[in-house]
Amino acid sequence: MAPIPGSGLAKGLAVTLRTMTKKSVTAQYPDAQPDLPPRTRGVIGLFEENCTVCMLCARECPDWCIYIDSHKETVPAATPGGRERSRNVLDRFAIDFSLCMYCGICIEVCPFDALFWSPEFEYAETDIRDLTHERDKLREWMWTVPAPPALDPGAEEPKELVTARKTADKLAAQQAPPATEPHADEQARAAERPTRPQGDSKQQTDQPTSQTDQSKPGQEGRE
Ligand code: SF4
Ligand code: SF4
Repeated sequence: MAPIPGSGLAKGLAVTLRTMTKKSVTAQYPDAQPDLPPRTRGVIGLFEENCTVCMLCARECPDWCIYIDSHKETVPAATPGGRERSRNVLDRFAIDFSLCMYCGICIEVCPFDALFWSPEFEYAETDIRDLTHERDKLREWMWTVPAPPALDPGAEEPKELVTARKTADKLAAQQAPPATEPHADEQARAAERPTRPQGDSKQQTDQPTSQTDQSKPGQEGRE
């Protein structure tokens, strides 16, 4: 059966009329910024202080797009007679985001919480080489990492927070001025003060005289 002339136009207009009344799901980016969920995988931030250069992330990355260089340094013994230790010092940490497939394996395997997801995604470049982010840039991304979600009510305080608070308390105690003991100070000053001889004041005034008297025999001898 041949279609009725103009039926396609009528169907199209019906669709248009239906969708005109519905709420739009598109956003006019970049004029309207998207409201992204906090766990969005935008870019990876590096918290360098936590990185021990264990190389786990670079080994596990399926795309081999993490580049790490390091060297060893010897740390002197902390106590006399102790052994020297060696530690890895980070020289380079870079991620090539032109190869990264945002699988998150590097973040999952890092045993020292040195890598984090940031929801930032506006780092498109015209030169593909600029998509390799070096350690300074990866550190800058850390400022955009959202805070972790709040703990459940009644949950145990994380051991990291407990340790950090104990360390802060210990440092504060070390930096605080020593508590003064007024009585002890007073006793020390009293002990240093010359004791006055008991008796009348004449004996005190006579003391210099007696000293001059003692010098007299010498003078007499010289004469
Ligand atoms: S997210 Fe995946 S592909 Fe990207 S750097 Fe990490 S491990 Fe490699
Ligand atoms: S796994 Fe973590 S600690 Fe180890 S090298 Fe990678 S970022 Fe550093």
